Amino acid sequence: MALYSIRTFLFISAIISYLFKLEVRMFDSIEALIKTQREHILSGLHIDYKKRIELLDKTSEAISKYEKDILDALSKDLGKPSYESQISEILFVQNEIRHIKKGLKKWMKKEKVKTPLLHFPAKSYIQSEAYGSVLIIAPWNYPFQLLFSPLVGAIAAGNRVIAKPSEISSHTSEIIAKIISESFESEYIGCVTGGVEETTYLLDQKFDYIFYTGNGVVGRIVMEKASKNLTPVTLELGGKSPTFVFGDNDLDLVAKRIISGKFFNAGQTCIAPDYILVQEDKYESLVDNLRKYILKFYGKDPKKSKDYGRVINSRHLERLKSYIESEDILCGGEVDEQERYLAPTLVGASGSSSVMREEIFGPILPIVKMTNLKSAIDFVIERDKPLAMYIFSRDEKIVNSILKRVSAGGVTINDTLMHITNDKLPFGGVGESGMGGYHGKSSFDLFSHKKSIFRASTRIDPPLKYPPYFGKLKIVRWLLRFFG
Ligand code: NAD
Repeated sequence: MALYSIRTFLFISAIISYLFKLEVRMFDSIEALIKTQREHILSGLHIDYKKRIELLDKTSEAISKYEKDILDALSKDLGKPSYESQISEILFVQNEIRHIKKGLKKWMKKEKVKTPLLHFPAKSYIQSEAYGSVLIIAPWNYPFQLLFSPLVGAIAAGNRVIAKPSEISSHTSEIIAKIISESFESEYIGCVTGGVEETTYLLDQKFDYIFYTGNGVVGRIVMEKASKNLTPVTLELGGKSPTFVFGDNDLDLVAKRIISGKFFNAGQTCIAPDYILVQEDKYESLVDNLRKYILKFYGKDPKKSKDYGRVINSRHLERLKSYIESEDILCGGEVDEQERYLAPTLVGASGSSSVMREEIFGPILPIVKMTNLKSAIDFVIERDKPLAMYIFSRDEKIVNSILKRVSAGGVTINDTLMHITNDKLPFGGVGESGMGGYHGKSSFDLFSHKKSIFRASTRIDPPLKYPPYFGKLKIVRWLLRFFG
């Protein structure tokens, strides 16, 4: 019996030690990658304009080279229609690269600022400098865009980057890893695949900047871990994005634009209209128009439509099903587990419905009747600050009163999703929906430290700042008033 126990003990110890070694080896390569980039930074090698352009060009070329593989991967992961993948993932990133390349030389220049006359002839300026090493953690819903868009911003600002794609969109992760390893030297850009363990390991290392896109629960973990090294973070999170339909409207156009924004990527868009708040007397007509456009866009059986995606996995499908189990379904609701399909679904809801508690992040659209604008605004501001907000109204007073009272990451008026398409508008959340804005020049600024530089004159050396101070305060006050 004793011998048996000893054998069992030795066997279990051997397994534990094997697993431990395996884990150590698994993290060895990540540690080596971080070390390579860190040493490269410490060697003093600055990534100049020419190198940044070279890295951006390589990114663009690799995307073109692997376009078909990227589209295939997105189709396997999310059943994404090719058109949606092209515009929201591939062309989105290529366009971002083009814009960044156009502005980069100018953005990199030091920015002269005025110096108070009191300090004449000193000079002041702001120099954008790279943070150093950046960790980018991406989610699964736009798995390509949400990794490469911040990546090109970080490259433009002269950083080394470690990219961590989402394990949930595994096919896209694979092609991302391939593109990165083939296109870049690891001292500049590396990729770490894997799941929560790998992300946690990365978060326990020291980076100079962390850019995370995903849910708020993990967002809090990211911020807590970053705080240990006082690492600055950008958190691109989610939430429930409201859509107001109030005042005089062409409800046909309103419905068309809401349906196209909501069911793009099968509702798995961080800025998808999460729910509608509609003026009570417009409810019936709006619902009729919404139904009409579901039919027009996706046909009688949306499962057969080439333009309608799939839910990412069965766990999320189960979650979505639970939201509509006891709700008043106005349209859709059909599920095919095998295909991870959930029909475009409209739900008649109240503020307390289960579908109104969490971010939906799928093809379910609740419509809530509101008696007046004030109660609709109150409904939104009593909840977390949304990532996006949509206002359908031709009445400027209504638009302005919503804009004044409701804080949101971004807003589109009389359409959905569109504010993300203009790279002159920083994209990001506020409060519970995140912090930090990117895209275009905002990305360059986000990934750059703004170094303030004051160049003093050696020719003039006024005695005012030196002791003894007696009698000097009056003069300083006078000078500040007239020349400060
Ligand atoms: P996800 O599950 O793919 O997670 C994202 C990353 O976090 C992955 O790389 C994963 O490895 C890591 N991760 C997961 N759990 C972790 C843990 N416990 N510890 C450490 N790391 C962990 O993506 P998700 O969070 O399901 O993404 C969906 C959410 O992201 C939604 O809330 C959506 O609104 C939000 N989102 C926001 C934006 C935006 O731009 N603001 C864009 C897309 C998605």
